[in-house]
Amino acid sequence: MTRSIETDVHSGSPTVRARSLVAALPRYTRAAGLNDVRWRASSNESTVPPSPHILTAIREAAAHGNLYPSLIGEDLISDISARLAIDPARIVVGGGSIALLQNVLAAYTGHGSKVVHAWRSYEAYPILIGVVGATAVPVPLDADFAHDPTAMLAAIDDDTRAIILCNPNNPTGTELSPQQLERLIAGVPGHVLVILDEAYQEFSRCPSNTASLREKFPNLVVLRTFSKAYGLAGLRAGYLLAHPDIADDVRAASPPFGLSRVAEAAARAAWADRAHTDHIVEVVREGRAYLVDGLSRRGIHVPRSGANFVWLPVGARTAELEAACVARGVSVRAFDGEGVRVTVGERAAHDAVLAAIDDLAATSRNAGPTA
Ligand SMILES: *Cc1c(COP(=O)(O)O)cnc(C)c1O
Repeated sequence: MTRSIETDVHSGSPTVRARSLVAALPRYTRAAGLNDVRWRASSNESTVPPSPHILTAIREAAAHGNLYPSLIGEDLISDISARLAIDPARIVVGGGSIALLQNVLAAYTGHGSKVVHAWRSYEAYPILIGVVGATAVPVPLDADFAHDPTAMLAAIDDDTRAIILCNPNNPTGTELSPQQLERLIAGVPGHVLVILDEAYQEFSRCPSNTASLREKFPNLVVLRTFSKAYGLAGLRAGYLLAHPDIADDVRAASPPFGLSRVAEAAARAAWADRAHTDHIVEVVREGRAYLVDGLSRRGIHVPRSGANFVWLPVGARTAELEAACVARGVSVRAFDGEGVRVTVGERAAHDAVLAAIDDLAATSRNAGPTA
């Protein structure tokens, strides 16, 4: 490829400056070894590729790639509305639930406002909150790596505009019981938006009845995604359920055509292909049980996961375990000093992680009691 002269002429540093809040944003990071490993267990992707039915829908939509998609994804909204028996006015679809979350935060928060969320939780939260100029108020998880409802409610003050609940929580996999969740939401003042991120809802061990929650709490927004249980992380599609007034405000604050023609077709096909989703969920349940069993045989007990991953709170040994996993050909998600998140779904990848743990144990034994 030839480099354009334009690029060369303007290759000095720009003198324009981003808003100061941009410099302060945490950066998205990628897992170590992601491009070299045999198995990816670092991004909570589905290990099952799209079904033939979904691939056909993608191909047909791609053939019309010259045309803009529908303005707000009407067809996907109508499919979701039919299955969930929800008024289409209460549904917003978009290019992934992260994009929807950003649009919600843009519409409801901003400079001078605070957004409460659990921590450690999804790494995108502090970034998205920072981008819209709001202040993130992280509330530590409890000793069992779960949301701490009492502490989260206590963190709400006059400047709080929203609270984000990640249930099941990424990266620890813990979930609030339906009773705990309802009590927590009931404790949030009605003028504070409750954003319930249910990216892993389909893998949950104790799913909440969000239909009844939405009825009771008009300030509730539920976020769901096609990236995990529907296996479409690479195509970017998600949806949101909320009161029609909130849905309307979120649409007003969103760029048009947020859902590509191909993503919408894939999401509709995946939504219709129940057997495919059931298969993905089954693969996750089996894989989760297998990995947790292998860990417990080694004396390692992990928080009960309602998601497609398992959290290994190995603390100071996090970096070592990450390196050992990569050496065994599997990428994992490491949070330094805290732990390692392992996506489940592929037997060989689970075995590689277990072998990495055995490697570490052997290293410690050889290094003697000080290791
Ligand atoms: C994976 C994940 C999402 C999904 O985001 P998409 O933009 O829909 O791919 C959302 N929230 C959490 C907590 C996640 O882990």
